[in-house]
Amino acid sequence: MATAKYIFVTGGVTSSLGKGIISASLAKLLQARGFSVTIQKLDPYINIDPGTMNPYEHGECYVTDDGAETDLDLGHYERFLNIPTSQANNITTGRVYQSVINKERQGVYLGKTVQVIPHITDEIKHRVKLLGETGDFDFIITEIGGTVGDIESLPYIEAVRQMKWDLSTDCMVIHLTLVPYLAASGELKTKPTQHSVKAFLEAGVQPDILVCRTERHLNDEIRQKIALFCNVTKDAVIESIDAKTIYDVPLLMQEEKLDQVVLRKLGLPVDSSYNLDTWTDFVYKLKNPKSEVRIGLIGKYVELKDAYKSIAESFTHAGVTNETTVKLERIHSEDITDENAADKLDGLMGILVAPGFGERGIEGKISSIKYARENKIPFLGICMGMQCAVIEFGRNVMGYSDSHSTEMDPETTHPVIDIMEEQKRVTLKGGTMRLGAFNCEIKKGTMVNEIYGMNKISERHRHRFEFNNKYLKEYENEGMLGSGVNPEGGLIEIIELKDHPWFIGVQFHPEYKSTVANPHPLFVNFVRAAVEHGEAVIS
Ligand code: GLN
Repeated sequence: MATAKYIFVTGGVTSSLGKGIISASLAKLLQARGFSVTIQKLDPYINIDPGTMNPYEHGECYVTDDGAETDLDLGHYERFLNIPTSQANNITTGRVYQSVINKERQGVYLGKTVQVIPHITDEIKHRVKLLGETGDFDFIITEIGGTVGDIESLPYIEAVRQMKWDLSTDCMVIHLTLVPYLAASGELKTKPTQHSVKAFLEAGVQPDILVCRTERHLNDEIRQKIALFCNVTKDAVIESIDAKTIYDVPLLMQEEKLDQVVLRKLGLPVDSSYNLDTWTDFVYKLKNPKSEVRIGLIGKYVELKDAYKSIAESFTHAGVTNETTVKLERIHSEDITDENAADKLDGLMGILVAPGFGERGIEGKISSIKYARENKIPFLGICMGMQCAVIEFGRNVMGYSDSHSTEMDPETTHPVIDIMEEQKRVTLKGGTMRLGAFNCEIKKGTMVNEIYGMNKISERHRHRFEFNNKYLKEYENEGMLGSGVNPEGGLIEIIELKDHPWFIGVQFHPEYKSTVANPHPLFVNFVRAAVEHGEAVIS
């Protein structure tokens, strides 16, 4: 395709209508038709990125290969499309203002008054078009965070208005709304949708397609009514019914012909060739598991499902590969002690200790690991989870009773986890971490070598502290191996136990790289080990 087409996805009525999933689903359908597609998220908050935001506020922070700390929706984009995203795929108001202000200081605006329109809106448009100008994509789908009518969203909506004006048929707007069902009157209500489109029109934007989130099917009459009151064609009123799993949504959107309407409205031919076989096969297996396995996720943000989004999705992918359903039990690490671990973790066939920052819940993570190690339960430790495994081994196997990470105990005489030399000088909190993709060389003959089936891998990181190499030799003598090493810096990336059926800790985050098309080998193998452990326990 000669020029890229731009599709904006906005939301009205309420937040949490699933813009991210609709964007990813549309992208999936276009990709299945042979187009190259990327998705971008514009977030209206003033933080530069979600890196320093509490997971309780904003869910997980997703990390890309190029080390960008981004909105968790980018995780959905990668999981659905199986192509990596980058910093360019996530822009916040903070970042937009920061670059405008930097330019102003450099005198780029030649003494002009710097204003929201045109300077902020131009910067937004520039960032959207950058992806189109790479020439790599037929479609740029840009999801706008927040809800139409919010003060924060105004510059974005204005940028959309201008782009629609500038690009005419190369640009379109899909607006998500809610069509609620009122039990008392037994009716679906279209008024919130009408009001939301009205608010959009006040900002000068006529949406081309309405995706209506609903609990009940939209009948013909409702579709007709929405079309009439909102100035869209009837085929552009798309039903988005609540789905059992997010992985159903591309198939539901295919049934509703969302992709066909998009192509037609952008003046492109609509043929019937699709390649969605991997996807449909995945969804079939997801819904028809042959077994079930209980795995514990030990973390400190367990109350909020979004806090461990990528880990949960990785388990979904790995479950499908193993034709099993992973029942993920989220257990608060603050509730676990050496004394109650057997009770709290009873019946789990696998234990995953989650990433995290700071002291809270650490001792519970360590107790869970002790329990998994001693009882030979499959264990996967991610980032802080791996660090806790090293601390636990130090305390209970090496006999270093005060073994710790200097993150939690700067005075420990056994800093088995410590900060890297070059990091010590950095005092600012934001942006000082080892972030993004780093190489890892896996030692031959180790368990992870077999799992990955190769010895050179690249995985994403987000941390400051590291395994302290001073202790490596002693640890290896006692049975904890450094089985993966970063070739550039010699940093330990993976540890595993010799004398255990499945005990692996990784300094990186494998969960960021698991997709529907490519479930992550560590998760796949961990789930397999959990299933086998379950079978062994029963027999
Ligand atoms: N807090 C630890 C560190 O900074 C682990 C971080 C994580 O689990 N992502 O090294």
